[in-house]
Amino acid sequence: MSRLRFNVVEAAFKKKAIEVSVPSMRPSEYFAKYVFNKEKMRKYLPEDICRQLYNVIEQGSRLDLSVADEVAKGMKKWAQEFGVTHITHWFQPLTEGTAEKHDAFIEYAKGQEGLIEEFSGKALVQQEPDASSFPSGGIRSTFEARGYSAWDPASPVFVIGDTLMIPTVFISYTGEALDYKAPLKKALAAMDKAATAVCQYFDPSVSKVTANLGWEQEYFLVDEDLYAARPDLLLTGRTLVGHDSAKNQQMEDHYFGAIPDRVAEFMKDLEIQALELGIPCKTRHNEVAPNQFELAPIYEECNLAVDHNMLLMSLMRKIARKHGFRCLLHEKPFAGINGSGKHANWSMATDNGTVLHSPGKTKEDNLRFLTFAVETLVGVYRHNGLLKASIMSATNQHRLGANEAPPAIISAFLGKQISEVLEKIENSTNEELISIKGTSELTLDIPQIPDLKIDNTDRNRTSPFAFTGNRFEFRAVGAQANCAEAMTVLNTAVAEALTNFKARVDQHIANGEDKITAIIRVLREDIKTCKPIHFEGNGYSDEWKAEAARRGLDCETSCPVIFDRYLDPESINMFESQNVMRELELKARNEIKWDTYTKKIQIEARVFGDMAMNQIIPVATRYQSMLIDNISKIATTFTKDEAERLNADNIKIVREISEHTRFIIENVNAMIEARKVANRIESEREKAIQYHDTVQPYLETIRYHVDKLELIVEDELWVLPKYRELLFIR
Ligand code: ADP
Ligand code: MG
Repeated sequence: MSRLRFNVVEAAFKKKAIEVSVPSMRPSEYFAKYVFNKEKMRKYLPEDICRQLYNVIEQGSRLDLSVADEVAKGMKKWAQEFGVTHITHWFQPLTEGTAEKHDAFIEYAKGQEGLIEEFSGKALVQQEPDASSFPSGGIRSTFEARGYSAWDPASPVFVIGDTLMIPTVFISYTGEALDYKAPLKKALAAMDKAATAVCQYFDPSVSKVTANLGWEQEYFLVDEDLYAARPDLLLTGRTLVGHDSAKNQQMEDHYFGAIPDRVAEFMKDLEIQALELGIPCKTRHNEVAPNQFELAPIYEECNLAVDHNMLLMSLMRKIARKHGFRCLLHEKPFAGINGSGKHANWSMATDNGTVLHSPGKTKEDNLRFLTFAVETLVGVYRHNGLLKASIMSATNQHRLGANEAPPAIISAFLGKQISEVLEKIENSTNEELISIKGTSELTLDIPQIPDLKIDNTDRNRTSPFAFTGNRFEFRAVGAQANCAEAMTVLNTAVAEALTNFKARVDQHIANGEDKITAIIRVLREDIKTCKPIHFEGNGYSDEWKAEAARRGLDCETSCPVIFDRYLDPESINMFESQNVMRELELKARNEIKWDTYTKKIQIEARVFGDMAMNQIIPVATRYQSMLIDNISKIATTFTKDEAERLNADNIKIVREISEHTRFIIENVNAMIEARKVANRIESEREKAIQYHDTVQPYLETIRYHVDKLELIVEDELWVLPKYRELLFIR
């Protein structure tokens, strides 16, 4: 009999919190200790170099290699104070997580024997990681085998252990993006350009617009010993089997409850290390599901926020292990229990400090606010299918559409007050518009635009894209996703909407209309255009699904088919016209998406097959033999009639076990056959669709029978840690 499960449960139960020593300094003092930020630049770089680097960071100008040499020198000096011996370019390839290639600080000393500690500007600015092991969707084979990583000065370098980490983009020799960061930076530049031009209608002093991102990271912690006894968690990140625990989240006693000791120490550890790396962690709390938690920093510039999220996820994984946990970032690790998302709070702000998604004090401010809110909706509306594609994955598909997560249809919620204002503008007549004319611009009374006081409590939890007072909250992003992808699409879509908006307003102005009237006229058109995306009701209801289809919103639910949206003519046109990605890159990236999807389902199916045949069926059969033993003993002990009566229940159970095991074996075999058929398909897209349609469904149907067996088979025999153990031991 297997003792593994009981051994690990016992081990997990006995664990005590590992106390974390808190630095004697205040958080504000150790914040960004390991980051080469502006303060360190001032201290370690000559003044003119420092100024040139600031320019590169703030204005996006190009970095001179001679400047880079000086910068590298200063960085090396700073880093060596921490005993740093290696550097690595740190980038975000199209696999999960981040990649690193460590090089020692050593070079052959010129003209002498031996080695010296060296770190040149070239090593800072550019590296050539062996790109062949990263997915490129065929780009490299068609063009050039090499991949380059190039420093992103907008994201400061930092130190982890003995290594200086340099955030970089990762591109092919011919310039195609092989990562998440390169397109994001281009999308942010497009948004800056389009938004700055529109801002100048309202305030000519604006010269730059940045996107802000504040993500909220949800995650589960599971005891590491229990985790190790679950091949599904170990290999796929989620439980493929497991019956509901008698108690799960129905008491809602976990959310904002007291944080358990072991977890509290983990969080403390994580936050200290995150703060030292410059991640401005702000809130932490329990989430709805047992053993589910959330961490959110203060929002930052979007590109930096994405890097910080990637860094935080890797810290979480590492620090969890130190505390005897495993951190689950999968979007749906447990069936029937809330999944994990990464709400992306997004807004736009000017270089003089105006949050463009925040209503202002004056009517002009509010017209500007409405412009940015409406054009955001236009972008989201025109590309709602694409936005869904940007957050879709083999893992996030399990979370979407369930009653605890964003629905699989993108819509936007605005709240009562803004909805009313939009309605007013929409229904205003030309006469009303014309009546505005003639008044001087600054004192202009705009009848359509009342004072806006946004009530923060006006919230709709069922909306995937909700206005929350001074920002939009995109809630569909998956917990383990790189949110750069969603941010790339969102910022590009809004850049496109703003570009079109400006072109039309300028046309009216050229025709002699005054600026404000022209703006309101175009806004009115756009409010009508984007109306189908605006939905204030319950996003979980069936009526909404029907209504959304009537409105022409994207209602597709198949993950690999949703990826098609990247290759729609409107999408290609959007990315190309905004100079973010070319068709070739989009195609290549989709090949990777489909391939990744297939591999994920393939691995799940294999793991499931192994578990069914090695861990479920043998145990069920053993228990069945025990019952049969008992039945035959009763038959020889009692009279025929009495034995029949006494054995009736057990015979029923023996039959049930046989039926379940038969179903499982037959369907595991059928699933293997389905995989073989799918594997013969050449096209990545068709293969992924085949996996989705013919392999994935088996995981659900077989699971039902496994979970039934879990309820029948004697607890002591069951080898896999159960839901109650995974979810309540901490
Ligand atoms: P919630 O009620 O959604 O938990 P919080 O106040 O905790 O709201 O904020 C969630 C996230 O939103 C935080 O990361 C916060 O920094 C971010 N946030 C707040 N204001 C903005 C803004 N204007 N733009 C972008 N993110 C913002
Ligand atoms: Mg939130």
